[in-house]
Amino acid sequence: MAIRRARLGARSRDLVLVHALASALALTACGAPSPTPVAPPPAASAALTTPLPPPREDGHLPALATPLKYTLALDVDPASAGFRGTARIELDVAEPTSWLVLHARGLRVTRAQVLAQGGVFPARTSERASIGGKSPEELVVALDRAVPRGRATLEIAWEGPWDEELSGLYRVKDGDRWYAFTQFEATDARRAFPCFDEPGYKVPFDVSITTPNGLLAVANTKEASRETNGGKTTFHFKETLPLPTYLLAFAVGDFDVRELERPPAGTSSLPPIRLVTTKGKSNLGALALETTAGLTNALANWIGIPYPYEKLDIVAVPEFSAGAMENAGLITFREEILLLDPARASVRARRNQAMVVAHELAHQWFGNLVTASWWNDLWLNEGFATWMEWRIVDKWRPQYQVRFDAVVSTHGVMDLDALASARAVRQPVVSTSDAHEAFDGITYEKGAAILATIERWIGEDAFRRGVRDYLRDNAHKSVQADRLLSSLDKASGKDVSSMAASFLDHAGIPEVSVEVACEPGSRWHAELVQEPWRPLGSKAENDGGQSWTIPVCVLAQGEKKSACADMLAGAPSLVAGRGCPTFVHPNADASYYRFSLPESGFTKLASARTQLDVPGRISLLSNAWAQVRAGRLKAEAMLKLLPSFDADPSRQVIEEVGGILGAMSETLVADEGRAAFRKYVAARFAKRKKELGWLPKKEEAAGSGDETMLRHAVLRAMGDLAEDESTLREADDLARRWLADPTSVDEDTAAIAVDLASRHAGPARLAELVQAAANSKTREDRHVALRAMMGFDDAAVLTSALDTTLGEAVRANEMRYAFGAAFARRKSRPVAEAWIRAHWDELRKKLPGSLGGSLVRAASIACTKSEIDERKAFYTPRAATIEGAERPLAESLESASLCAELRAHSAAGLTRALLNAK
Ligand SMILES: [Zn+2]
Repeated sequence: MAIRRARLGARSRDLVLVHALASALALTACGAPSPTPVAPPPAASAALTTPLPPPREDGHLPALATPLKYTLALDVDPASAGFRGTARIELDVAEPTSWLVLHARGLRVTRAQVLAQGGVFPARTSERASIGGKSPEELVVALDRAVPRGRATLEIAWEGPWDEELSGLYRVKDGDRWYAFTQFEATDARRAFPCFDEPGYKVPFDVSITTPNGLLAVANTKEASRETNGGKTTFHFKETLPLPTYLLAFAVGDFDVRELERPPAGTSSLPPIRLVTTKGKSNLGALALETTAGLTNALANWIGIPYPYEKLDIVAVPEFSAGAMENAGLITFREEILLLDPARASVRARRNQAMVVAHELAHQWFGNLVTASWWNDLWLNEGFATWMEWRIVDKWRPQYQVRFDAVVSTHGVMDLDALASARAVRQPVVSTSDAHEAFDGITYEKGAAILATIERWIGEDAFRRGVRDYLRDNAHKSVQADRLLSSLDKASGKDVSSMAASFLDHAGIPEVSVEVACEPGSRWHAELVQEPWRPLGSKAENDGGQSWTIPVCVLAQGEKKSACADMLAGAPSLVAGRGCPTFVHPNADASYYRFSLPESGFTKLASARTQLDVPGRISLLSNAWAQVRAGRLKAEAMLKLLPSFDADPSRQVIEEVGGILGAMSETLVADEGRAAFRKYVAARFAKRKKELGWLPKKEEAAGSGDETMLRHAVLRAMGDLAEDESTLREADDLARRWLADPTSVDEDTAAIAVDLASRHAGPARLAELVQAAANSKTREDRHVALRAMMGFDDAAVLTSALDTTLGEAVRANEMRYAFGAAFARRKSRPVAEAWIRAHWDELRKKLPGSLGGSLVRAASIACTKSEIDERKAFYTPRAATIEGAERPLAESLESASLCAELRAHSAAGLTRALLNAK
């Protein structure tokens, strides 16, 4: 699944609804549906019954029977009030049992029986909660007598309501038509059909879907046949290859289907690729088809295994909670990711499309062909897909230089990883709540960063060999991560398993300190020592026992290659080289560790910046700022360091500078230092702004788009950090042009100009933006307006803008764009946070269940003790009722307390330095 950090919309479900619906069962011997009220399980004679196992502590279903195959028949009319289905689930019964336990949530079972050894075993069903569950998710099937060991078939029929939280089976109205879509990962197939909803069960599915005539059904596999009977059409699909339940998918509606007309040059053996959209939208799909074809080809080549399924449909879904979902052969995406106007799409939108498509396609091998057998190894799916999206987009469009974006992403997740409340990449997952929490930056970005570090350590060839062997040996199976690690051990001859375990099984980020000594005879050596990196005020327990196996590489002045050593857990290590270098860079490749140097070490590195490549420069800046936050480097030292990078040619380095200044502005700049800070920021970016101008030059259209993105970063810093009046005025001129005619300003410029133009604007502009959002012809234009609606400095206007999100003007799955923008700025953050508290109940109606789980992240918007206490009191009881919200809240409150510590330690010094600066 693709989810991006700072999301404000996970998924889940309303407990009341579930309880209301989990209310009936039927007991029949001959198959006629006859709903009857829930009754307690029958008390049959001891000889014929076995005891019902309680819910398991580890969150798995009791091992009474194993599914072998599903035959599913669903009746789906998106315009009706709900859906119906029947299933035949072939089972292998381990021991004689008078119980079966599987998953179902919010479904009304209307009929159930088991067939075994020529006999019929009537059944009753009831629901119960799993361990740690916040609502009933286990379906208990009570048989009137024990089924013998061996093959059996569970026949079951049910009815269900459309899910209201964009998970399970849900419907969406687009224009005047209804459509139905599914989203099953992680634990929501059980909302659509009774099943053994665990990734370890990987079996074939035979699916047929009955719809009103005139609608189309699509599913994981090709359509095998269809038949019409009265007003209904039944679509039969070919049997799937073995799949876990979470990868099953289908969609029903009056769709447009567009085929890839011509494979792009240089591609070969592609599956048939189609784009599925709601009515009238497929004209915006050419880029998505081309991107999908190019990346599928690139992936098959890198991996050395053809695309594993018979066909590939990409589906543009108008309302979607996550970003995209890798269902085997039927990948679903937020519509705005796939549907782009080739004439106007922004650089960011094109790149984002490539990254998300690459991620979901990578899953067709990592996750789909070979599946992590339980959610504690989710990183195997998601870390790999994240690592692969960087790698494969870099192969497909090297000019995008996304390999450097990967470096920024790696440094970004280190802060989350250093929190005392952070998860380990690999840790027990018991409940649905735990599974929700596992979809976070630790699983995705840290997982990817560890894989990148392993690849650097053992080399690309060995890494690729190990991955290939792993995929070939385990194709169509569900396995644990140790299979991948042992494949990498074998391919490299190194102990990847132990190295990886030191990073995967504990939260935290190591910091390596480096002391260089020059020896007589023109040699140098450096002693390396590791300890956990901790921010000031960290409550993480320093038990002294935590250590990592770290492949450390130190780049010395004048050398092309780094000197490397494997730091074994706990033991000091040495690296050495020739000469006596004037500087060393302790992590020029940006592997997954931080480093410390004295201030003079950072100064020397900054002076030698032209001898460092882009990852080395990003890592230098990120580590220096980390030293400030650990209390080992004065904040004012950053003011001396940053100007070295004013003219840096790399967009990512400039973004890093902007990011550090943004964090300083938020946390450390006191009111009396604000004017001086603005001046300091303007000195960094004004010249760059003049060179770049506002509008993309003609030649940029054919290039990498990097200059366009650099312009965005520079204008953002000038507008929001330097608060430069002329920048804001110029933005307003462009915004007026855009409001009059959105096609008169290119999408990249509009994205920054229309937003900055809101800063000093009033209620009239808000009204214009609401109108522009309603009238927008493309999703990109709509998002420009939605974000700019949150761009007002005036608290009253911003509050009115926030109020509009509760109405029809903003869809539930668009709330993330609005809140994302409101939380991004120093001035709007506190207003937005207070508004969330004031409107909590209304917000939860719009974002029910865990769809609104990320709202608790607003608690991080605090930097004093009283603010933190207030947030804690408000959000704690609320998070307790939302699946997957408790850890994000703990992380947010901890971040807020770290902000308070850093401010107390460093704000006065930085402000003084700003005031003294000439
Ligand atoms: Zn994913």
